[in-house]
Amino acid sequence: MAIPISQVWTVATYVWKQRLKGNKRYPLVLMLEPLFRCNLACAGCGKVQYPPHILKKQLSPEECFAAVEESGVPMVSIPGGEPLLHPQIVEIVNGLIARKKYIYLCTNALELKRRLPEFTPSKYLTFSVHLDGQREHHDFSVCREGGWDIAVEGIKEAVKRGFRVTPNSTFFDGVDPNSVRAYFDEVMAMGVEGIVLSPGYSYDKAPDQTHFMGRAKVRRLFRAILSNRKKSWKFNMSPLFLEFLMGDRQYECTPWGSPSYSIFGWQKPCYLLQDGYTETYKELIETTKWEEYGVASGNPKCANCMVSCGYEPTAVIDGFLSLRGFWSMVKGNFSAYKDAHAQKVLNEFKPQGHAPLIQIGSTDRAMEETNA
Ligand code: SF4
Ligand code: SF4
Repeated sequence: MAIPISQVWTVATYVWKQRLKGNKRYPLVLMLEPLFRCNLACAGCGKVQYPPHILKKQLSPEECFAAVEESGVPMVSIPGGEPLLHPQIVEIVNGLIARKKYIYLCTNALELKRRLPEFTPSKYLTFSVHLDGQREHHDFSVCREGGWDIAVEGIKEAVKRGFRVTPNSTFFDGVDPNSVRAYFDEVMAMGVEGIVLSPGYSYDKAPDQTHFMGRAKVRRLFRAILSNRKKSWKFNMSPLFLEFLMGDRQYECTPWGSPSYSIFGWQKPCYLLQDGYTETYKELIETTKWEEYGVASGNPKCANCMVSCGYEPTAVIDGFLSLRGFWSMVKGNFSAYKDAHAQKVLNEFKPQGHAPLIQIGSTDRAMEETNA
């Protein structure tokens, strides 16, 4: 694990304090969406399809600070849209640093290199750069030729200036696991702190609905990718969440662990679904019917979800609150996860190449139902 000790300590003590207070549901990371507009239009994106009058709106710095203080989280992830398009993003980031929050500023990095001089390196600030694999795959995923080169330029400049940087990848059906492993080599050689990854979620609004995976496919793919690890690979994630993706652990979703706040308010029940909004965080916790979400609930919208915002909080809490979980987390940081079958899958994998760049309008979801 590549996460600095001070951050691990902050999160561990926070989780224990919640336990001692008897809090059953508490947030670990706030998904703060200050705006939805973006300078890209990725086919798998569930955010940039809003109508223009919504895309023009944004949260003020004061609204961002109020949401962070109301929820009391130790960590804030700022996705979007593209946060660097927010005219007051520097003020928002500096205000959160002053409040000692660990921030993951998510960016597609098209503007990163140009904007870097406005930010100051801090242990509280990480640029989480959207990079979906090697050049060809990333450009396909973001529907923009040359996107990878610009993002990599931004990453290298941020590393050079002393910022924490974590490339953040979402993988969809058909991805080549050998290419993903080669991508890990490439980004680690750029000097990044650690890799962040997740399987994609099938947003209703995403134009391309054909490349989302069911749970069995996710497990097969991530077992091939994450077994037989190289020592040089570091992950800015809970090792237990990675084991969950590989099929070594069964977890239930913790949707309140990553609550989402945007111009609409607090989103029910999670970052991925939109079953209404509340004005306050307290109302979100108290009025959401949590039992209607997660795989065990039988909710079809949750059936194939293994996304980090739902399941990484479960893994983090497991790792810090039980001795067995803590020991597994320590072991996971040093294990290569040797697996002969996973190696065979890699050896026999035949890349299929990419279909047309964007498949807007397709409704054939062809999802694999894999609750077993
Ligand atoms: S960069 Fe992110 S927010 Fe922008 S279109 Fe792509 S997925 Fe959506
Ligand atoms: S399983 Fe996924 S979609 Fe369902 S509540 Fe959890 S995070 Fe949201």
